[in-house]
Amino acid sequence: SEELCLTIVVAGASGDLARKKTYPALQFLFQHGFLPSNVAIIGYARTDMNDDKLREKLKPKLVGSDDDIDKFLKRCTYVAGSYDGAEGWQGLAKVLDKRESKCSKNPAGRLYYLALPPSVYPQVCAGLKEHCDNLRSVEGSWIRVIVEKPFGHDLQSSEQLADQLGKLYPEHQLYRIDHYLGKEMAQNLFVMRHANMFLAPVWNRTCISNVQITFKEDFGTEGRGGYFDTFGILRDVLQNHLAQMLAMVAMEKPLSVHPDDLRDEKVKVLRCIKPVEPHNVVLGQYTAANGQPGYTDDPTVPDDSKTPTFAAVTLYIDNDRWAGVPFVLKAGKALNERKAEIRVQLRATPHFVFNGEPESMRNELVVRLQPDEAIYLKMIVKKPGLEFDAAISELDLDYSRRYPEVDIPDAYPRLILDSIRGDQQHFVRRDELRAAWGIFTPLLHKIDAGEVEVHPYPYGSRGPAEADELLARADFVKNVAYDWKEPGGS
Ligand code: NAP
Ligand code: NAP
Repeated sequence: SEELCLTIVVAGASGDLARKKTYPALQFLFQHGFLPSNVAIIGYARTDMNDDKLREKLKPKLVGSDDDIDKFLKRCTYVAGSYDGAEGWQGLAKVLDKRESKCSKNPAGRLYYLALPPSVYPQVCAGLKEHCDNLRSVEGSWIRVIVEKPFGHDLQSSEQLADQLGKLYPEHQLYRIDHYLGKEMAQNLFVMRHANMFLAPVWNRTCISNVQITFKEDFGTEGRGGYFDTFGILRDVLQNHLAQMLAMVAMEKPLSVHPDDLRDEKVKVLRCIKPVEPHNVVLGQYTAANGQPGYTDDPTVPDDSKTPTFAAVTLYIDNDRWAGVPFVLKAGKALNERKAEIRVQLRATPHFVFNGEPESMRNELVVRLQPDEAIYLKMIVKKPGLEFDAAISELDLDYSRRYPEVDIPDAYPRLILDSIRGDQQHFVRRDELRAAWGIFTPLLHKIDAGEVEVHPYPYGSRGPAEADELLARADFVKNVAYDWKEPGGS
C-alpha cells in the first residue's frame, strides 16, 4: 500500500508537555524509523514564534547527535494562531492542505495532539472540526485526536467535557492518554495474568488477602504547586493511573485482545466498585522536615491549603472473584522513596508445620512499574544449611538483568505509535472514565468541603502513620523477616 502521508499537529506546542514529552517522543519514533520519512509535525499555539524559535525551544530536550536532532527538527514547523475564532484554524488548514497536496495519491493521516489545558479542548476541537476536517477519500486515511488528563474534576464535569468533545469527535477518533497504560509493566500485567497457568487458580478471594497499588514520589511540588493545588493527589494519581492499574489487576480475561474486548472487561470491573467510604480513606499533607519545605511553603500554594498530597484509599470489588478483598490505592509526594508498584499479598499458609509465624511469611507478588522494572515473588523455602527451617526468599525477574539488550521505551512514544496505528487498546474509553470518576466523586466532594481530615506528615517520611493502620485493617502484614540481598553484592 501507499505510504501514509502523516501530519501531526501539536496544539499547545509552546508548552511544557509538548517540550518535555510530545516532541521527544516523536523524535524517538522518527529516529527509530517508526514515522514515515516524509512526516510533517506542525506546532500550533498562540505564542508568536517562527519555526527556528520553536526548534530552539525544543532542542534541549532532544537526544542524539546534532545531525540526528537537525534531521528531526527539519520536520517540525510552527503556525501561530488562537484557539477561539476561525482565523487561526483557517491558517492551519491552509498549511495542512498545502502539505498534503504533495502526496495527493496517498492515504493521509492527521494526528491532532492536544498538549493544552483541558479548559480549551472544546474550542480547539470545535476549531479543528470546522476548519481542519477534510478527510481524504483515499482508503486508509484518518483523523485522530489525542487528549491528556485531567478530564474534568469530578463525574459531572468529566461527563460534560466528554459530551462536548463527543459531539465533535466520536469515540473511535478520540485517544485519551493515561500514560500508565503505556508503561511496559502495566502492559505486562495483562500478559502475565492471562497467560500463566500457575497464576490463574490463585487470582481470587480464596488465595489473595489484599492488594496494594502504590505510587510514591520523593520530591514535593518544588514551586510548581499551583496547578496541583486545585486538583490534589486523588485527582492527579488515584482516579486515573492507579484506578487503571487496579482494573488491569482485577479484570476478567477478555474475549480477545481487541481494544474493545479488553476495555469492556476493565469497565465491568470498575463498575463493581462502590464509591469510596470516608472511613476507608487516609489523607495527608507534607510538612517541612530535614531542611525541606512543607507543601504550603511552596509560594504557588495558598498558605491555608488543605489539598491532600498523600492519600490511601481502600476499595472493594463486589463480584464473585474479589468480594471482601481490600484493594488499597496509595499515592504521595515528598515521601521516603520514588516507586510505583503493585503488591499482591496472599493469605497465610494454613497448617504451617514449620518453625516461624506463617502470618508474617506470606507470599507476595510484586510488580514494580518504576524505577527499574521488576517482578518478584516472595516465596517460602527451606533455609539453606543444616537446619530444617522455613525462610522467605524470592523468585526475581529483574528486567535490567534479564533483558540487558532491551531499552524499555517510555510510555509516550508507545502511545503515540499506537494512535498512529489506530490501536485504542491502551487508551481510556469514555465509559471507563465515567466508572472511575463514579468511585471517587462523592469522596472528592467531601474533601473539597473540608469534611475529611488531612494528617500532616514530614517531608521524606513514609506518609502519615494512619495509613499503616488502614493497611493493617486491610489485612496487610509486612514481611518483617524478609531480608533482600542485592544480587552480586557481598
Ligand atoms: P501548559 O504549558 O500550561 O500549556 C500548554 C500551552 O497551552 C501553553 O504553552 C499555552 O500556549 C497554552 N495555554 C496555557 N494556558 C492557557 C489558557 N488558560 N488558555 C489558553 N491557552 C493556554 O500545559 P502543559 O504542562 O503543557 O500541559 C498540557 C496538558 O497536558 C494539560 O492537560 C496537562 O494537564 C497535561 N499534562 C501535562 C504534563 C506535563 O508534564 N506538563 C503531564 C501530564 C499531563 P500559548 O499561550 O502559546 O497558546
Ligand atoms: P519494602 O520496601 O520492604 O515494602 C514492603 C511493604 O511494606 C510496602 O507495602 C511498604 O509500604 C510496607 N512497609 C514498609 N515499611 C513499613 C512499616 N514500617 N510499617 C508498615 N508497612 C511498611 O519491600 P519488599 O518487597 O519487602 O522488598 C524489600 C527490598 O528488597 C526493597 O528495597 C525492594 O526493592 C528489594 N527487592 C528488590 C528486588 C529487585 O530489584 N528485583 C527484588 C526483591 C526485593 P510503602 O510502599 O508504603 O513504603
